[in-house]
Amino acid sequence: MAYDFDVFVIGGGSGGVRCARIAAGHGARVAVAEEQHWGGTCVNIGCVPKKILVQASEYSGFAADARGFGWDSTIGAHDWAALIGHKNAEISRLNGIYRKLLDNAGVTRFEARAVFIDAHTLDVGGERISAERIVIATGGRPTRLPIPGVELGIVSDDAFFLAERPRRIVMVGGGYISVEFAGIFAGLGSAVHVVYRQPLPLRGFDEDMRSGLAEAMTAQGITLHANVSPTAIEAVGEEKRVHLSDGSSISADLVFFATGRAPYVAGLGLEAAGVELTAGGAIAIDAEHATNVPHIFAIGDVTDRINLTPVAIAEGHHLADRLYSSEPPRSWSFAAVPTAVFSNPPMATVGLTEAQAAERGPHDVYLTRFTPMRHTLSGRNWRRSIMKLIVEQGSDRVVGAHMLGEDAPEMIQGLGIAITACATKRDFDQTIGIHPTSAEEFVTLRTKTRSVG
Ligand code: NDP
Repeated sequence: MAYDFDVFVIGGGSGGVRCARIAAGHGARVAVAEEQHWGGTCVNIGCVPKKILVQASEYSGFAADARGFGWDSTIGAHDWAALIGHKNAEISRLNGIYRKLLDNAGVTRFEARAVFIDAHTLDVGGERISAERIVIATGGRPTRLPIPGVELGIVSDDAFFLAERPRRIVMVGGGYISVEFAGIFAGLGSAVHVVYRQPLPLRGFDEDMRSGLAEAMTAQGITLHANVSPTAIEAVGEEKRVHLSDGSSISADLVFFATGRAPYVAGLGLEAAGVELTAGGAIAIDAEHATNVPHIFAIGDVTDRINLTPVAIAEGHHLADRLYSSEPPRSWSFAAVPTAVFSNPPMATVGLTEAQAAERGPHDVYLTRFTPMRHTLSGRNWRRSIMKLIVEQGSDRVVGAHMLGEDAPEMIQGLGIAITACATKRDFDQTIGIHPTSAEEFVTLRTKTRSVG
């Protein structure tokens, strides 16, 4: 049977766009549908605008730091509307680049929703289109807690378009989005409360980094409410009152739910194609990204595995190569995926945490805490750095590297290469440091702090 396209990609986010471009480059007839914005969550309402807001929030600290270096600096008022306007202009530019990338690759673009009619046919904005293969790359959507008054709160999708910056905000959740936006709003001058049900934010990250970040957040004036959950939100005039599980309450102008994301499968018509979901509501796939319907594939957050943009891009690229190239597909290592949290200060990590390593056997831990050079003069000496290496005894392999502090994401990217290449502690020790930097600490950690496992 002749199909309209060789492959139809549903979703023009990071993973879908990469998959479509690479498949087209290999000669396939490719189409992609995007119902909202080209570039998906990361480019429009995620990583990219988030980092712009993080950068905006840093200037208040820089202005204060400068006084320690002799500058007569004071920070003036911040214009939220100007920031959002400049951010929107940059995002529109990036949308254009994504559209052009697809057009130049010869991909047919549909600015419409695609819904399965059957396993080879889609309704794309009212048009009936068939494809030999279909790739689902629809990503995820923020979730909210099922509590009374939940509709009074916002989610990250809304945060990028607020008409004004809240004076007082309650961040709900202790994950990536909550701690990042807590730093953003605090840096811009808001009073910030963070409410989370664990003893520390960022469950799953290394404990020393979690406690270090909690201390730094408190030191910059963010109020942390550990071990509690919101039970209800109430509107009191213009204010929102958040009631907590310990019986207390917080009043604020805005409540922001950062309580996780869920795979975006609603309204895709998966039942018409016979595509099965996991118990958690993600699209179930095998090791080659095939669903239970062999010619339908899924990549990225809709599969709810490692929900990070660069992982979705790698998956999309690999799948397109595997399906349409005569060469072996480009492949990536998912054994130790580096990741960063753009909190204040930032945190970054690759490989095993101390607790994970201890479960696997004997490991040595190397830990250092110090005040980076800038902050010996800046006056923000709460902005300390913590660096940590986890080394497997016997093999001497460095299996984990963690950092909280200035430039942590920039440094951990490089250490991700070392860990992927199975570098040993001896390799680290043989490397000459760059002086004076914080990064040199990673190659000068001589004294073992403790052994675990
Ligand atoms: P996370 O999964 O990181 O965190 C969710 C938070 O909500 C956790 O603190 C969780 O608590 C809490 N939570 C979930 N359910 C409940 C509940 N019923 N009651 C109380 N608390 C609850 O999600 P985010 O929304 O912060 O971010 C979504 C995803 O987006 C991330 O997981 C990540 O994949 C991606 N992301 C990546 C970024 C980066 O790479 N820098 C930045 C932003 C997002 P608990 O820990 O107890 O489950």
